[in-house]
Amino acid sequence: MKRARMGRNPVVFEELTCAFCHGRGRDPFDIMSARSTCCVCGGGGKVRVQGPVALCSHCNGSGAIKTLTCTTCGGKGVVSQPAVPVVPCPMCQGTGDDASAPAIPCLKCRGTGWIID
Ligand SMILES: [Zn+2]
Ligand SMILES: [Zn+2]
Ligand SMILES: [Zn+2]
Repeated sequence: MKRARMGRNPVVFEELTCAFCHGRGRDPFDIMSARSTCCVCGGGGKVRVQGPVALCSHCNGSGAIKTLTCTTCGGKGVVSQPAVPVVPCPMCQGTGDDASAPAIPCLKCRGTGWIID
């Protein structure tokens, strides 16, 4: 997926399979019903994320924390990375999880696992 061009940074959107429903377009946990559409992709099975994208540390790319959508990536499993250098978050060591409650995103990096240096 190399679409970046040299020069100015064009905004590139990556089209990815919805991590939360694995592209099926249905609520993976049957919270409303097995027929309800996925709240992340709206039922299309695909999500668009502004690139460059990085795997979401908080949910390890699954888009889900237990049966809830990951608040860090909104259920997409990836997050947009800034065009500036980032360093691993010193508070969570890059896991994106709060030390006392893994279901809660790290307060310092908001769950991404990295911070802008
Ligand atoms: Zn989906
Ligand atoms: Zn996530
Ligand atoms: Zn952190």
